Amino acid sequence: MSEVSERCEEGCDFEWSLVSSSDIAPRIIKSSAAIADLITAGAKPHARKSQNVWSPIEYAGHVRDVLFNLRDRLVVAINEDNPLCKGLFGTPRIDLGLYVGDEPDVVAEELRVAASLFARTWDRIPDVLRDRTMVYGYPRPADRSLRWVAAQALHEVEHHFVDVRDGLVDS
Ligand SMILES: [Zn+2]
Repeated sequence: MSEVSERCEEGCDFEWSLVSSSDIAPRIIKSSAAIADLITAGAKPHARKSQNVWSPIEYAGHVRDVLFNLRDRLVVAINEDNPLCKGLFGTPRIDLGLYVGDEPDVVAEELRVAASLFARTWDRIPDVLRDRTMVYGYPRPADRSLRWVAAQALHEVEHHFVDVRDGLVDS
């Protein structure tokens, strides 16, 4: 499949095919905890470094919602053949103000919960079901295995960890 040589083209070099299925849950928990720690560490997580770049807390909220969204997509794809699931509408959530006023402590806890739920769900999906597929739109529309989608969940967390880290403005 075309999955073999794909690599993130937005700066982090993540390669979906290189991720071991058994590493996904612990890596998601570790990087989500790192994001949670960063946004509660005392800098200004609500501040945007520039107008067009999300703030650290917006990125953290995005990752939280990605984990919930992809967790449910996995369940849908176990029960329907190659479904086309609704997308996250990540940018509209922020542009519509749905994250406005979110407190760092609250988002940090929600992110830890989302990571734990995703990790437990993924670890409980039997190996024989992990080659089932869904249609996935990023980085280009394609039929993707559940393994790939779970790796993509990890990619979202690890990719945006860097955005959170680099986006923190000194207080
Ligand atoms: Zn990336």
